[in-house]
Amino acid sequence: MNILVMNCGSSSLKYQLIDMENERVLAKGLCERIGIEGSLLTHTPAGGEKMKFPAPMPSHKEAIRMVLDALINPNHGVIKSAEEISAIGHRVVHGGTYYSESVLIDESVKQAIRDCFDLAPLHNPANLMGIEACEAAMPGKPNVAVFDTAFGMSMAEKVYLYALPYEYYEKYKLRRYGFHGTSHGFVSSEAIKFGGLDPKNAKVIVCHLGNGASVSASIGGKCVDTSMGLTPLEGLIMGTRSGDLDPAILQFICKHENLSIDEMLNVLNKKSGVLGLSGGVSSDFRDIDDAANAGNQRAAVALQAYTYRVAKYIGAYVAAMNGVDAIAFTAGVGENDATMRKNICSYLGYLGVEIDDERNHVRGELRLISADSSKVKVFLLPTNEELAIARDTLRLAGK
Ligand code: ADP
Repeated sequence: MNILVMNCGSSSLKYQLIDMENERVLAKGLCERIGIEGSLLTHTPAGGEKMKFPAPMPSHKEAIRMVLDALINPNHGVIKSAEEISAIGHRVVHGGTYYSESVLIDESVKQAIRDCFDLAPLHNPANLMGIEACEAAMPGKPNVAVFDTAFGMSMAEKVYLYALPYEYYEKYKLRRYGFHGTSHGFVSSEAIKFGGLDPKNAKVIVCHLGNGASVSASIGGKCVDTSMGLTPLEGLIMGTRSGDLDPAILQFICKHENLSIDEMLNVLNKKSGVLGLSGGVSSDFRDIDDAANAGNQRAAVALQAYTYRVAKYIGAYVAAMNGVDAIAFTAGVGENDATMRKNICSYLGYLGVEIDDERNHVRGELRLISADSSKVKVFLLPTNEELAIARDTLRLAGK
């Protein structure tokens, strides 16, 4: 049984075709510049070469057609016809307060996704376009929505409410939702399995450290708290996002720099984080590492501030759960940067966390990186959001 996993942006479409008999990726690829001149499909069959197909893709409809053609092509295809695709799983960023788990898509689900356009104006319209393009290209096939916000819906009221006049929650559903939920859910449940932890009561902290970054606390795989909020801007310092700050800063900068609120938000989303802190070196952690190693003091402080913020959140989440059994590092930085993992854990000696340097000296591989004597298990646990989406899709639409 094959599941097609789709992740649509406004001008892009990422896909993977996964054989769920063995959870093997049969092919994956990316359509870029949809609706813009110079559209391009990059398609990679498992074990094969990356292939590039430039062709006009005025909308997601043509893009999905190109993807299906590539998947069934007699030369580089991996299936004989679209009939071999059982269902399609879609990453959808915002499910608002409507969905606390994945759902089989019908008209009411599409309306709920539309109702959340306001909460995720860049993502939800693109996600819906991808769903409608798949419905048109493969009529009658089940489509499943897997929401980035679903994991955070188990947070208690005291956790998700902002200390604002309550009417804003009532009127606009302004609250903390959290993002990267598919990754946090996947990694926390894999940590429980891999670590042989109690499936109902294990207290797990997941550090999803990519370009966007967030931390979550969960008990028995259910989210207790997570660091992103109404939008992905809250929480950790990220590649280009500021994370937590005093909201009065917005008024101060708008006034002194003569910026509109939209321009200010652009600064907080695109020009801040380690990019801003390093004085413009880069948003990419490899560049920041290189600059810091070459003696750039601003880059060094950016890394220290980043590390400190993650450690501070871990400390808060240990308090929130009154303990922790395991900490898992995932995503680009979490999976690849051994020094970052070590430096974050160096704040956690009071918890009895001990990193084994030899075990930690690895990239992108599932393994225990704490010492046997460590009181908390620490894992390097590569995330796999596509597989998580495919598993949910199989569960809800598998025949
Ligand atoms: P996203 O999905 O949010 O775009 P990723 O999870 O792909 O992000 O992570 C991208 C980040 O991972 C980049 O900032 C990149 O610098 C960082 N990264 C990748 N490899 C390394 C490495 N070897 N050392 C440090 N950072 C790395």
